[in-house]
Amino acid sequence: MPQLWDLPAPEAGRAARPNAAGLDTAGLKALVSALGEPAWRGGQIFEGLYRQRWTRWEQFSSLSKALRTRLEAEVDLSWPTIVQSQASEDGSTKHAFELADGKQVEGVYMPYDDRVTLCLSSQVGCAMGCTFCATGQMGIIRNLTAAEIVGQVVAMLNHHGHPEGRPVNLVFMGMGEPLHNLDHLMAAFAILSDPKGLAIPPRRVTVSTSGLVSGIERLGGFPKRPRLALSLNATTDAHRSAIMPVNRVWNLEALAAALAAFPLQSGERITLEYVLLKGVTDSPEDGRRLAAFARRFPAKVNLIPFNPHEGSGFQPPEESRIAALCRLLSEAGLPVSVRRSRGQDVAGACGQLVREGQTRKPKAEN
Ligand code: SAH
Ligand code: SF4
Repeated sequence: MPQLWDLPAPEAGRAARPNAAGLDTAGLKALVSALGEPAWRGGQIFEGLYRQRWTRWEQFSSLSKALRTRLEAEVDLSWPTIVQSQASEDGSTKHAFELADGKQVEGVYMPYDDRVTLCLSSQVGCAMGCTFCATGQMGIIRNLTAAEIVGQVVAMLNHHGHPEGRPVNLVFMGMGEPLHNLDHLMAAFAILSDPKGLAIPPRRVTVSTSGLVSGIERLGGFPKRPRLALSLNATTDAHRSAIMPVNRVWNLEALAAALAAFPLQSGERITLEYVLLKGVTDSPEDGRRLAAFARRFPAKVNLIPFNPHEGSGFQPPEESRIAALCRLLSEAGLPVSVRRSRGQDVAGACGQLVREGQTRKPKAEN
């Protein structure tokens, strides 16, 4: 028989506690006001949470001891927790984050000489069903909250002891379709780019979409917004619709028109990501059509050799074929790079992010 003191704390009691992690300044001001404290203390907590990346109330040296004790007793400070980390030989680390409801998402930490790039998830799973993508095989489970998006950044920077001032790039190229979760994404972006907090400049944040025209139009309307990357991945409607179901709703012409209308700042380019699937999307004709598509707006091209994963029927092209496409595009006057995906040996590269046990169907359909 379990003793009374062995039983877990009642859920209702815990759920009633507010959580400060992931709140914006207004939310924090409301929180401290409800405790009878002056609202400006919310600003102090904001700086502690996001500039200092403090994770325990006792660390908040900017607050009085009495207030810290009260916060400790009454307010949670609970971020997604890293439950698994796999270091890759190339220096990147794939992290699994556990969320409050036990669901998991993944993020990748990639250090470079002059910066660190964090690849973030925006959803648990993804609804878009692209046939080459491991996350697409999961189906959609749920959107992440703004706190869960910001929490991936805080957790990874703390885990790696990131010093304040070292540049951070964020790419929403992990699990999920970010434009399907635009409200939470933009709430997270406001916190992440706030000069009083993590202070990540908007130009260092890139949102990658499979091509939701309605979301692209909405994103373009924000005065302060992340940069845009489009996963083009094929150059005819027939090919694109076969591997990316979203193309049956918004085809290549609709996409090109939306990208041409997207309001860019001077010098800003839209990134066209192009996954190279051997024998499917890697022909010289594809290269010429890709160049024609990219000429309709300021663009740069990022070629991504397919990362094989269990259950996919695709292969990456041979190196010579990748080099030929690269040459063709650069001769057409386009800035082009080839993404040598990091973390491939730990399944942390693009499109390989899928938490075990969350796979909806064990095999891709092709
Ligand atoms: N859902 C968004 C962002 C996440 S996917 C999008 O689709 O843009 C991030 C990038 O990984 C996309 O460009 C996608 O085309 C690419 N990708 C997905 N699966 C891949 C795989 N197995 N190999 C290489 N790239 C892949
Ligand atoms: Fe979703 Fe992007 Fe994967 Fe397509 S490629 S299924 S949009 S995560």
